[in-house]
Amino acid sequence: MHCPFCRHSDSRVVDSRTADDGTLIRRRRQCPSCSRRFTTVETASLMVIKRSGVTEPFSRDKVIAGVRKACQGRPVTEDALALLGQRVEEAVRATGSAELSTHDVGLAILGPLRELDLVAYLRFASVYRAFESLEDFESAVAELRDGFAEGPPAQRRDDGADQASADKT
Ligand SMILES: [Zn+2]
Repeated sequence: MHCPFCRHSDSRVVDSRTADDGTLIRRRRQCPSCSRRFTTVETASLMVIKRSGVTEPFSRDKVIAGVRKACQGRPVTEDALALLGQRVEEAVRATGSAELSTHDVGLAILGPLRELDLVAYLRFASVYRAFESLEDFESAVAELRDGFAEGPPAQRRDDGADQASADKT
């Protein structure tokens, strides 16, 4: 690692610590030539293959930006979005593959988003699954209803009820 200040070809690690639940390591480095310090961040390489065939590094920020769009006007906080981004990244990294499709990333978003906000979930799903008709939308809503009917954890059912009553007021 070159020193970003004087381009010296070597640097010494003075501190390293994991961050973000272990998905990245920050190293504090010092240049032996100019003595200045800088930080490097190390993460496992994770590439996303877009529909066009172009690959780009996985970006949690892009996930959050996409979800934020679906959450417009919904009672979803930035903290909740950040947490969702983290959960999505953990989920896609847990697959162990170094390359994912945008479809895989979308799938990983659906679960946590459904727990976060049902309306945002439907909005996101309608784009992600390219709903073309009202029927597509209705069947997605029916899926959601079935999911609740099948007996999700009691706590989640309570959350759903709270949300429903909050929407009416
Ligand atoms: Zn230097």
